[in-house]
Amino acid sequence: MTVLRMSSLFLRTLREDPADAEVPSHKLLVRAGYIRRVSPGIYTWLPLGMRVLRNVEAIVREEMDQISQELLFPALLPREPYEATGRWTEYGDNIFRLKDRKGADYLLGPTHEELFTLAVKDAFSSYKDLPISLYQIQTKYRDEARPRAGLLRGREFVMKDSYSFDVDEAGLAKSYDAHRDAYIKIFDRLGFHYVIVEAMAGAMGGSKSEEFLATAANGEDTYVRCASCGYSANVEAVKVPTPAAVDHSGMPAAQVIDTPGTPTIETLVDFVNSAHPRGDRPWTAADTLKNVVVLLEHPDGRREPLVIGVPGDREVDEKRLAAQVEPAAVAPFDEAEFAKHPGLVRGYIGPQALGAGEGSATGIRYLTDPRVSEGTAWVTGANSPGQHVVGLVAGRDFTSDGTIEAAEVRVGDACPSCGEGEGLEAARGIEMGHIFQLGKKYAEALDLKVLDEHGKLVTVVMGSYGIGVSRAVACIAEGNHDESGLVWPREISPADVHLVATGKDEAVFVAAETLARELAAEGLDVIYDDRRGVSPGVKFKDSELIGVPTIVVVGRGLASGVVEVKDRRSGERREVAVADATAEVCREVRGA
Ligand SMILES: [Zn+2]
Repeated sequence: MTVLRMSSLFLRTLREDPADAEVPSHKLLVRAGYIRRVSPGIYTWLPLGMRVLRNVEAIVREEMDQISQELLFPALLPREPYEATGRWTEYGDNIFRLKDRKGADYLLGPTHEELFTLAVKDAFSSYKDLPISLYQIQTKYRDEARPRAGLLRGREFVMKDSYSFDVDEAGLAKSYDAHRDAYIKIFDRLGFHYVIVEAMAGAMGGSKSEEFLATAANGEDTYVRCASCGYSANVEAVKVPTPAAVDHSGMPAAQVIDTPGTPTIETLVDFVNSAHPRGDRPWTAADTLKNVVVLLEHPDGRREPLVIGVPGDREVDEKRLAAQVEPAAVAPFDEAEFAKHPGLVRGYIGPQALGAGEGSATGIRYLTDPRVSEGTAWVTGANSPGQHVVGLVAGRDFTSDGTIEAAEVRVGDACPSCGEGEGLEAARGIEMGHIFQLGKKYAEALDLKVLDEHGKLVTVVMGSYGIGVSRAVACIAEGNHDESGLVWPREISPADVHLVATGKDEAVFVAAETLARELAAEGLDVIYDDRRGVSPGVKFKDSELIGVPTIVVVGRGLASGVVEVKDRRSGERREVAVADATAEVCREVRGA
């Protein structure tokens, strides 16, 4: 196919890591001349980088074309559809907003739910038109507070996003499975190790959500897994198993006691064990009920106090809490807020005063960890300074307004799936894809309805599916490099062969040129290092840094009729007769 001659290729490799680079993919992609930083989180794709990006896109396209149809929406979008779904404000500082010359508001698209929904609404009106799935590969914009790690978290990035439109939930389930299967094929071909983890489902409709995470020690997403049964989940999505209800009819009555000098949970537990011991076993920190107050800021501007009850040996996990209360944001409950709610006795908040229902002293909504289940007995605040209540029983002495999955998940916690083995272990990864049963959220907001088979208008059910395409390039680099440079999988590599001519002998360059042309005629893409006056050492270093899987060296061996063929990944070298070189290299590249 193509011969890229390094004497004229737009490429400068660097010997030093860029100063702002933290992760290997960022260092190597910049050093090897694939990308170049323009501004924080914004990169130029140089010729070699473009070739890799195009290869990744081609894989995504081939598999997506089997189940979906490609279109392309603009990146520059009017405000109105985003206003209709509330996202113009919900996005806050995370989107780039701009005005046209007439003062009308626009944004650079962070995601395109609105546009997909409106496109289908524009064209379709009957169940007979469905199902349909549409996708695009497009540049997206997000004003990240802290762009980092090169392409892994940028402010401009390429994504494949697709949406499925079905008349009912059963249809959505099928569309979801089709995307899941396509994603497995895509990620297998992209050549990195990945796991499929359960993720948080949305607040409105839809039930299933999974993430494809590339396993990476320095990934910024933490997930948990169970070695016994293979369960794996995003930390936000872990559901604590609810213990079976315990009969509390024979339990002793709760008692309010003075608890002087107990500023910490540890001192409180010690005090209660001596002053008011449990019959069967000592009280532990896990038997204390800690009630944490936060302030929810709802999209409509309402500010609502919320109390969350968790076992005292656990903290509230901010990310888990945020995922649970979305689209509301969580703000701290400060001094001024406490002053507005005298019913909340700081440090001694107990469930007796809480709850949104009638008979509650505060009327404040109270949600508890699933471990606070029927019949469990607790040591907790007595809503009076210096006092706690011991043996307060859930379901007898108090109830909550529901459960919330906001307590931290810990290594060793029981597996929610099998409950067996060593419990959960923690691992890290990079989110590469997300498939998501979106439900009716956008269809409702933008009034996307079709007539069903009985002539009745029904709201369309949507699925949402994304792949980080530019992020995939970084992610593949994260998983495929060594101390000398990149080591691309064949299907991703910017070329099939990196041909190096060394020395000053003109015969070497003539033979190398012939070989380059023959390989190209066989349909291979060749990077040919034809630079004169560049030392073999520099050329070898560059070939290792650039990371094409097969390196062919034409040099001193030519006098005895051989060239060297080197496998970039294993480092194995072998000599091949010049006459056989083209056939031999083609065989190697094609894996035959
Ligand atoms: Zn398990």
